[in-house]
Amino acid sequence: MRAGFPDFRLGNVLATSFTGTLTERHGNAVERIPTPQRLVDWLAENGLAVDSCTTAQLELARELRECIHAAATAAAIQDALPASAVHVINDCSIQGRAAAILTPEGNRRWRLSSPPCVEDALGVIAADAISIIAGERDGKLALCASPTCQAAFFDTSQSRTRRWCDMNTCGNRQKKARFSANQRKNPNSAK
Ligand SMILES: [Zn+2]
Repeated sequence: MRAGFPDFRLGNVLATSFTGTLTERHGNAVERIPTPQRLVDWLAENGLAVDSCTTAQLELARELRECIHAAATAAAIQDALPASAVHVINDCSIQGRAAAILTPEGNRRWRLSSPPCVEDALGVIAADAISIIAGERDGKLALCASPTCQAAFFDTSQSRTRRWCDMNTCGNRQKKARFSANQRKNPNSAK
């Protein structure tokens, strides 16, 4: 983590980790990629290292992020996908030049074009979003139960009953809120 900037939330689904770079959309929103360099950092942490990022590329990244958020939210509540968001996601997917590479250890890695640019990385993220919104992958899109968050996340739990985008943040906060509400109602119960 770089001093002075909000840290990144880790996740194992690329597209929703990316939409998670803006948190608390319905509360006091936290922008986790406030500068071009922070987008470079985020991409490096997610296996999509690029050489540089301009302000315009950061704006494009944020536009894609909000379009993925809008489309994933619509998919989670089984609403019609917003056409403008679909257009941006498709455009980013088409623009990016990246190839999937199989490593000797049997893992997949992304090789971006040379020199690797932000558009290539956004193409990979857009394609990841397409695969989860299209329902190709094992899991279900859902919305975080925290009223200030409502982030779209990809539930891969067996029962498909996950309620929060992140157990360590939203889940924990909700638990604590419930605990203190119970204590207020019933001040002697937890002693
Ligand atoms: Zn949440």
